[in-house]
Amino acid sequence: MKCPTCDGDCVQPAEKVLDEIYGMYMACRTCPTDPVFNKGSPFREKFDKETGRCMKCGKRHLDYVIGHVLTLLKDIRFYPVDASLREVGTPLIAFGFHVPYPPRLGSKSLVLIMDSVTKDIADKIIAGVPEIRGVIKRSGSQTQSVGILDTGSTPHLYDLLSGCDMRCDVISASFGELCIYRNQSRIHIEFNNTKIGKIEELYLKGELDNTSVIDGFCGPGTLGLLSAIGGAGKVILNDAWLPAVENTILNIKINSGILGINLDFQKQDHIKNLVGDEPVLMAKASGRAELLVYHGDIRKLGRVAKDGDICLIDTFPSVNPAEYLSVCRDIAKKVVII
Ligand SMILES: [Zn+2]
Ligand SMILES: [Zn+2]
Repeated sequence: MKCPTCDGDCVQPAEKVLDEIYGMYMACRTCPTDPVFNKGSPFREKFDKETGRCMKCGKRHLDYVIGHVLTLLKDIRFYPVDASLREVGTPLIAFGFHVPYPPRLGSKSLVLIMDSVTKDIADKIIAGVPEIRGVIKRSGSQTQSVGILDTGSTPHLYDLLSGCDMRCDVISASFGELCIYRNQSRIHIEFNNTKIGKIEELYLKGELDNTSVIDGFCGPGTLGLLSAIGGAGKVILNDAWLPAVENTILNIKINSGILGINLDFQKQDHIKNLVGDEPVLMAKASGRAELLVYHGDIRKLGRVAKDGDICLIDTFPSVNPAEYLSVCRDIAKKVVII
């Protein structure tokens, strides 16, 4: 499947990613040993495209890649000579999972989030450092979530300056695995395994078996799709944030083999309001489970979704989930705050 953002090969089928993920970032037998750099102290080395690169597999250690970016930033005098590796930004591997060793990176395998960068410099990084897939400029503080807090709030976006921001996280639960793609400049960065634990808990108690689950704040679809592989018969995935809904539909397609479903319908003529109001059915899939994807305000979801067994409330950390309790109690017998 072509990447919807850049038309490239960023989006791979879930089965292929899951087959390859455990070896994806591993050093080969010829790879140079791990370098030892103090990431917080002034970095005096000068790295280029070949520094630290393995002659055999062509990959290189994360620190060489960041060191190369830093050299470039210093050469054009954008960063001071005593800047450290840590100051470059937040590197996110393109196929994210808990890598128990320092990753060795191949071509276009890192999305870089930077606080201080311009479009011109981002283009230089993409042109000069082969491992970098995309450069995103962060706005606001690290703790401010990307997306919308509520339908009344102004969307908070990062800026994709160059390359592509599509990346994927491998979600592992005791009963199965999924690949969840997201446009990282428009969707919140997620590292929270306790959320997956809550779905595992429902699964272990048999509470997902053939039930109807409403994932009212679905984001890119993680918990709703996990509920479907955990045995739910019907899942309604809703989000007021259009980029989240678009990523959810992509994730249904990518994981269709694992989910045992086919996409029956996808709305093509939707008015592109970034923030939804009245729920609009955007996609439907069926097979082992029925999946319905809505773009709309959770407060109005009761018009299309009733009599659910479980409603999941997964808001941003700064939002009080209790605000949505009564709305969710109207549409489902049980409400689970994630
Ligand atoms: Zn892409
Ligand atoms: Zn190697």
